[in-house]
Amino acid sequence: MNTETQTYPSIRLFIGGEWVNSKEHLPIINPSNTNQIGKLPVVRQEQLNNAVSAAEEGFKIWSRTAPLERSRIILEASRLMRQRCEEIAQSISLELGKPIRQSRLEVIRGCEFFEWDAAEGQRLYGRVIPSAPHIRYLVVRQPIGCVASFSPWNFPMSQPARKIAGALASGCSVILKPAENTPAGSIHIARAFEDAGLPPGVLNLVFGQPADISEYLIPREEIRLVAFTGSTAVGRSLTMLASEHMTPVLMELGGHAPVIVCDDVDAQEVGVLSAIRKMRNSGQVCTSPTRFFVHERLYPDFVKSFLRQVRTMKVGDGLSEDTDIGPVAHYRRLEVLQGLVNDAIEWGGKLLAGGYRRIDKGYFFEPTVLSEVPSDSEIMQVEPFGPVAVINPVRSLEQGIELANSVPFGLAAYAFTHSAANVDQLINEVEAGNLSINTLEASVPETPFGGVKASGYGREGGDEGLLHYTIVKNVMHNIGT
Ligand code: NAD
Repeated sequence: MNTETQTYPSIRLFIGGEWVNSKEHLPIINPSNTNQIGKLPVVRQEQLNNAVSAAEEGFKIWSRTAPLERSRIILEASRLMRQRCEEIAQSISLELGKPIRQSRLEVIRGCEFFEWDAAEGQRLYGRVIPSAPHIRYLVVRQPIGCVASFSPWNFPMSQPARKIAGALASGCSVILKPAENTPAGSIHIARAFEDAGLPPGVLNLVFGQPADISEYLIPREEIRLVAFTGSTAVGRSLTMLASEHMTPVLMELGGHAPVIVCDDVDAQEVGVLSAIRKMRNSGQVCTSPTRFFVHERLYPDFVKSFLRQVRTMKVGDGLSEDTDIGPVAHYRRLEVLQGLVNDAIEWGGKLLAGGYRRIDKGYFFEPTVLSEVPSDSEIMQVEPFGPVAVINPVRSLEQGIELANSVPFGLAAYAFTHSAANVDQLINEVEAGNLSINTLEASVPETPFGGVKASGYGREGGDEGLLHYTIVKNVMHNIGT
């Protein structure tokens, strides 16, 4: 047995507190070298039915468990995941090719989601509305029920963590379908919860063909919320399906983050920071800074320092300690990236670095920098979701904001300026769910994260995040005279 398969966990479905297998499997591939590292069990319909029944039973127990006890179990699971950080990080680097140092940070971030929500779940307060003496109006928040969650492949541990944390902290049960190419993070989460004493059925994992699972689960009347993170196209189709059943949705979808660099900042410093952040996780982040609109006065220096930084970054196997940029997640992504780069060049954009697939084994796309790309080209409308940056000069803040808003998406947006007047204008005019100024960090556990326009609906994180997992019940109590 090679070291890759020794480190990678065995993937099983987790239904009603039991680890179960299936007859059919899909291969799990390491994108750094295309070796098969594991087998994904494809859930059968009767197993999905079992998961729904288990989640219903789990909900009965969990929703009646005291919030303090729920919090204790979540915190214990998080403590175990912190203890197992290295093992979890190695699994992530194997299945996604993510540089190991970034995988470790992802595990810690996933734990922070659990820890924040564990505390916040104890503060889902209702209220008492003033009333006449003989009557009482109470507003209570109650867990919404069983949640069908769908997590993406770009953060195999912290994305499932975010979904599970929100549901469990609010008293809901979950059936989670992680991405088929990156199931290990969820396996480690479920193991930690099992060890922490989570009652059976509260957390269930199913794997397989995404459409088969969502089309089975969403119409079930036991499912009371659909939570999805992924592309806008899939999010739209799941939202339509859920709407037929009047099931609410929480949708974290794609972005195409602009970065507006004003003329009052240090171009070199911002250029270096931008290059590092752009290449994080090979650009496969919904908040990845991609469309750089740089004031024309700073433009030459910004481009120079961005390129210099990119050239120092080491592309390689996710498990190597010195890798800065890993492969992309799967073969499909390479084709999409090549198409977007070719189209940008055809429209007259300049290719300053990269622009092609590396020929060596694995799904590596060279870190790519394009400049002066016309707005009509596809890459100015569609997020590349890969290690590709576009840097265009702008004359003014107004032009930067206009270009920033010129896409159907509005998830993360960034700006660099020291002017209070500029900040005020940015806050008023940029269309995005998250605006970060002088930093390329878009969200932390205590702040609400989500999009506007085609970037989705609802928020995860902060106290807003847990509200989606609850219903509001108004109680009118006529006490009598
Ligand atoms: P894709 O749309 O084929 O798949 C994205 C994810 O959605 C996968 O994890 C898949 O399991 C899931 N999925 C697909 N069809 C589904 C269905 N019918 N029911 C339930 N789940 C389903 O895209 P891809 O090529 O894997 O990823 C590229 C695009 O996805 C990017 O362009 C990006 O916009 C988006 N994406 C966004 C995020 C995010 O954090 N918002 C994360 C990953 C991918």
